[in-house]
Amino acid sequence: MVGIEGDYVFIESHPDDLLLSAGGLFLQKKPRMVITVFSGKNIDNGTKELCKDYGIGYVFLNVPDIDYNEKIDRTTPEHANLLVDIIKKANLNVITTMGAGHPAHEWVANIIKDNFKDTIFVRDFPHSYKKRKVNFQEYVNKNKFKLSFILECDFDKKVELFKYYYKSQKSLLFFEKRFFKIKPREEYYTVKK
Ligand SMILES: [Zn+2]
Repeated sequence: MVGIEGDYVFIESHPDDLLLSAGGLFLQKKPRMVITVFSGKNIDNGTKELCKDYGIGYVFLNVPDIDYNEKIDRTTPEHANLLVDIIKKANLNVITTMGAGHPAHEWVANIIKDNFKDTIFVRDFPHSYKKRKVNFQEYVNKNKFKLSFILECDFDKKVELFKYYYKSQKSLLFFEKRFFKIKPREEYYTVKK
């Protein structure tokens, strides 16, 4: 079995990050609850459907997105407090993305790092693979991340599931084709104590 003991809540920055970054984990072990933080650019919200179909608890915070290119940040401390409160109430193991390569992902990762010590962080796909956006190894070192385990997963099966739930995201599959060709394994990290 995967290296996750007990039930978990997955916090995704945008509606699609759960399957993109941790779809392999999802295929093996479903979360008890999913929280989507930012609105993102999609009109439809595939995560809501995904959770409904699998009987998973779902919360959509709809925080205004931190734009990938302009880096306009309209988040407030209230948004951060709300996120922390909901996770505390869930009282589950916490899994989220590391925040490498996207300012919105980093916002979420930083809040969770500060508040939930035993969180497991999964490497962001495809953002952390974009060398123009981030030096991944530097990001790992700076944030004191330590590799915990690598998940072998069926990447194609994960993409199938992604396509089914995120129909408006076909353009992502087109524009980011080269990252999908990498078919990386999923890397899970903890923060060094
Ligand atoms: Zn995202």
